[in-house]
Amino acid sequence: MIKNNTKKIIACLPENVTLVAATKKRVVQEILEVLEAGVKILGESYVSEAGEKINLIGNKAEWHLIGHLQKNKVKKAVEMFDLIQSLDSLELANVIDAECKKINKVMPALIEINIAKEPQKYGFMPEEVNESVRKIVTLGNIKIMGLMTMGPFRDNPEGLRPYFRQAKDLFDSAKSLHHDNLTWRYLSMGMSDSFKIAIEEGANMVRIGTGLFGPRTDKT
Ligand SMILES: *Cc1c(COP(=O)(O)O)cnc(C)c1O
Repeated sequence: MIKNNTKKIIACLPENVTLVAATKKRVVQEILEVLEAGVKILGESYVSEAGEKINLIGNKAEWHLIGHLQKNKVKKAVEMFDLIQSLDSLELANVIDAECKKINKVMPALIEINIAKEPQKYGFMPEEVNESVRKIVTLGNIKIMGLMTMGPFRDNPEGLRPYFRQAKDLFDSAKSLHHDNLTWRYLSMGMSDSFKIAIEEGANMVRIGTGLFGPRTDKT
């Protein structure tokens, strides 16, 4: 079932769109199935869950952190992950940079945007993006690879379209910024119920969990 779901989704993605399998609450056996079906990137939401999976699966996949990163977990996270999609504040950027300096690593990251400006959500406000990017690239040990957004909750994913469009506009205007620690490669947006709309609006990276693995029994 997982393998078939995954193959179907991969087959329907345009060539320029990268799939990230969102693996929160999934076990190693399930994850191996999506890898066998052709997934190359795994997106973990929790540092605490990722360690064991990375030990067992290792470099069969590229590992992305897609959930909020607490500062006390940064040291572990920069050792474990290949890319952090949820770089959501300047304070966090400073901590990531400091931990990376200790281990001589340059951490690829996406800037997370709070596109609907929801008070309870993490991420940079849309109007903060350009100035924040300018600051982060000067730190030295973070390489910005693009933007990520979750979008607000909507019963009907069509309601997300204007937010995805706004994120694409931000992405396009950010392209005027140039720096060695900057490459505008990824616009990561769209999940199981919204990825088609996100792609129509310009996403080139989608993060899909339920659509590959089936419904989560534990809805955290
Ligand atoms: C869980 C999760 C997804 C995938 O959500 P589904 O609805 O299961 O496809 C995508 N992005 C983030 C940040 C997530 O936590």
